[in-house]
Amino acid sequence: MRITELARRAVSETTNALFPAHCAHCGRDGSFLCQTCIAESTRLTSDGSCRRCALPTNDGSLCGRCSANPPPVSSLVAAFAFDGAIRSSVLALKYEGLRAMAPVLGGEMATRWGTRRKLPDAVVPIPLHRSRLRSRGYNQAELLAGPVSELLERPIRSDLLRRIIDSPAQAGASDETERAKRVSGVFGASSDVADLHILLVDDVATTTSTINSAAQTLLDAGAWGVSALVLAREL
Ligand SMILES: [Zn+2]
Ligand SMILES: [Zn+2]
Repeated sequence: MRITELARRAVSETTNALFPAHCAHCGRDGSFLCQTCIAESTRLTSDGSCRRCALPTNDGSLCGRCSANPPPVSSLVAAFAFDGAIRSSVLALKYEGLRAMAPVLGGEMATRWGTRRKLPDAVVPIPLHRSRLRSRGYNQAELLAGPVSELLERPIRSDLLRRIIDSPAQAGASDETERAKRVSGVFGASSDVADLHILLVDDVATTTSTINSAAQTLLDAGAWGVSALVLAREL
């Protein structure tokens, strides 16, 4: 590890430890995301979202696209829409080194998964490519997977999936087919996934192509099934 990275990480750790908590969205003291901002965030519910892509539907049935072409992930659950305070907190977690944000967000995710849904055998965060992990110093999906794993009482298995290719940002890709092409072959899975029900965890699903690429890789390696839980879905 380079000295600059060590120094940057030390500064970020000190910041996380010493600065009094204040809300990433409204600035109110006391927590990294205050209860008022959480309450005002747009929650996505099971009876108002497609169960395979988390986009809004009238009655929680499959959307037209998922019924015509079912994706590899059998269920995608998103706690919030990616806007307002949730957007602010993801940006703080991801780009401002505010790792202390993860427990409150991961807790919301575990609550959204709930107790009625089938519990997975293993919680697997969407991995970063090692070069990106080196420059950021942590994987935000792994930070969110911690509290999810703890609250669902299921183990984190980061060893089951790796990112082989550092796929480019998806913002420029104009359609789903183009995005899907860019993420094929991005992941590699361990044969230890055989017969396991995997719960993928990520911060934001901008499209579902990254999650579905990971899910397909896990299924190809013998996983019994793949579900996914994200903090936020971009609508
Ligand atoms: Zn707030
Ligand atoms: Zn759908």
